[in-house]
Amino acid sequence: LVSRQHHPARSVIRVGGVPIGPDTLSVIAGPCAVETPEQTLEAVRMAKRAGASLLRGGAFKPRTSPYSYQGLGERGLKILAEVRQETGLPVVTEVIDPGSVDMVASYADMLQIGARNMQNFALLQAVGRAGRPVLLKRGFSATIEEWLSAAEYIAQRGNLDIVLCERGIRTFETATRNTLDISAVPVVQRLSHLPVIVDPSHSGGRRDLVVPLTRAAIAAGADGVIIDIHPEPKTALCDGDQALVESDVREIADAVTILSPLM
Ligand code: PEP
Repeated sequence: LVSRQHHPARSVIRVGGVPIGPDTLSVIAGPCAVETPEQTLEAVRMAKRAGASLLRGGAFKPRTSPYSYQGLGERGLKILAEVRQETGLPVVTEVIDPGSVDMVASYADMLQIGARNMQNFALLQAVGRAGRPVLLKRGFSATIEEWLSAAEYIAQRGNLDIVLCERGIRTFETATRNTLDISAVPVVQRLSHLPVIVDPSHSGGRRDLVVPLTRAAIAAGADGVIIDIHPEPKTALCDGDQALVESDVREIADAVTILSPLM
């Protein structure tokens, strides 16, 4: 269902009316985690200045350590819905278990499946039935074939509104948090009709790499990027090292305006 063999034209997915796919470069941006209404609103205002047409923010955080910040849960979703109201940007947020899919879908415009859950098949089937577009991140140890099979689980339940997100894979390299597999962009676009975006924040894990990796993603033909922003990264409860600050926002906006006509 997700293969280009039976569907040669590349798909455009609409999220709250905003298109993601060929001929557009979508910027999804906002805080890694929702912490407070003020922090979320400020991060999303910065996201708008960076050129974002959709907002991101995690209310349920699937952390490697159980002692790390786990998110505000439904309270965080309410904050996201208020920030959508305030800014007009549709909400992309993660869901981490099949039992809460309908509740998260009642607040979200797009459901995100994180890298750690890429092969949580019960969750994939649940979002396949939820009636919302899905952002499917690549598992950090998943091959492209495994990633596309995960998308097939969602599609099989009747939901073809899927956007794939390359977010870096685990390699022997330790200088970066993950290794951005930039070749996945054209490879997957050839194999599948689904849009492919890149997460330059979680791939590098470092703020100084986000702008260069964004440029690389655009040059490789990605259909969009998803970026972490925080008004005060030093106080961030999650992934502050990779969050962009105000001075980076202009560079992202420039990269998008200057490079996207080359696509
Ligand atoms: C995220 O985008 O908030 C996230 C946790 O990303 P990943 O699943 O790619 O690690």
